[in-house]
Amino acid sequence: MLTRKARPLVRNRPDAASGEQIPPEDPPRPTTKERRPADAADRSGHIRLIDLTKRFDAVNAVDGINVEVHAGEFFSMLGPSGCGKTTTLRMIAGFEHPTSGEILLDGRDVASIPSYKRNVNTVFQSYALFPHLKVFDNVAFGLRRKGVSRHEVRKRVADALEMVRLTGLENRKPAQMSGGQQQRVALARAIVLHPSVLLLDEPLGALDAKLRKALQVELKALQQEVGITFVYVTHDQEEALTMSDRIAVMNAGRVEQVDEPQRVYEEPETMFVADFLGVSNVMDAVAGPAQGGACRVRLDAFELRADCGDLAASGPVKLVIRPERVRLEPHGTLGENRIPGMVERWVYLGNAVQLLVHLACGADLQVLIQNSGEGIPFVQGTPVGVHLPAGALRVLSSAPAGAPPDRGRGGPPAK
Ligand code: ATP
Repeated sequence: MLTRKARPLVRNRPDAASGEQIPPEDPPRPTTKERRPADAADRSGHIRLIDLTKRFDAVNAVDGINVEVHAGEFFSMLGPSGCGKTTTLRMIAGFEHPTSGEILLDGRDVASIPSYKRNVNTVFQSYALFPHLKVFDNVAFGLRRKGVSRHEVRKRVADALEMVRLTGLENRKPAQMSGGQQQRVALARAIVLHPSVLLLDEPLGALDAKLRKALQVELKALQQEVGITFVYVTHDQEEALTMSDRIAVMNAGRVEQVDEPQRVYEEPETMFVADFLGVSNVMDAVAGPAQGGACRVRLDAFELRADCGDLAASGPVKLVIRPERVRLEPHGTLGENRIPGMVERWVYLGNAVQLLVHLACGADLQVLIQNSGEGIPFVQGTPVGVHLPAGALRVLSSAPAGAPPDRGRGGPPAK
């Protein structure tokens, strides 16, 4: 956890001396969990993207997306390379002009506002520090350009460096620092300007896995402390799940789902989302009509009860279950949603064991069992009962990728 004496960067107010936006004395901003959604639109740092499109010649980099980011939220845009994450971020920053659509920052259309006037800062993967300037001067650079007084610059730079745990390294040059430290300088340089929105484009992408994990925790703590809106671009699903309040999963220029991490992972709305976030077992099945969010699903000769959310259509569907949600039981165990199977492969992973189980309905399932140290009885060649709990089974449309899911949710936000 980060500790700092500096007061949180909450709602800005103008400084009479410099005209600079400085934070108020009180009250401290509530954490994300304490905030009521009704407040969100009134607070600075609220973003709304409406039918936003960016075309580069024949490429639809961003294809009519509708997204709302609440003030003070840690919002991630997650998707594979080339899905349009960076282009979306660059349009919010003002580095790229939309082909069509609107970007509202705190309710104001920013189409005609140049990037440097948007009260939005960007942190890039490449750090983009000035190599000839010391850490202090790198962080102070933006403040000095804005004409902030020397006294105020000293105070704010000290506060920012304390927040990112770099106090004492003010006189180093970037080349004398590690990658993680340089990225902290880049963060300090951005937050020292008290933006209402911080855009982060794969900021941890150049770091090794261990440092990356450590900085994920720090970055999340920093965001909660400063309370400004973070829009974070990543292709790393674990990173997005760990840090975000909500995630927009993007695919080929479109947003497939916007939800809290747990919902995106446990209740994916499309096959793309189910597949992109972690490992999913996918089986072809036929669904009966839904009743109260549940339906009967036929898997070869077996009938199962499953959660079908708000999927309206019955007929051919994809049945999805995560490996860690499958339960293995002794062969012959009776009950709902049980199918006989055979353990075909057994892989020791250290903290868990991964099994490949062939089901009597013909499907193969990956199963993950945590290693509790008590031994796992289901070795290769063991006949087992496979329990697929109804709450863990997700029924998804079998429409091809890119086709809109047949669901009631979604649609553009009201203006
Ligand atoms: P990555 O994770 O690899 O950075 P991304 O999801 O951020 O990918 P974008 O960089 O937004 O994706 O690119 C989306 C699409 O737009 C890609 O097909 C890319 O080649 C194309 N694209 C981006 N910038 C330009 C440009 N300036 N000119 C032409 N095509 C571009």
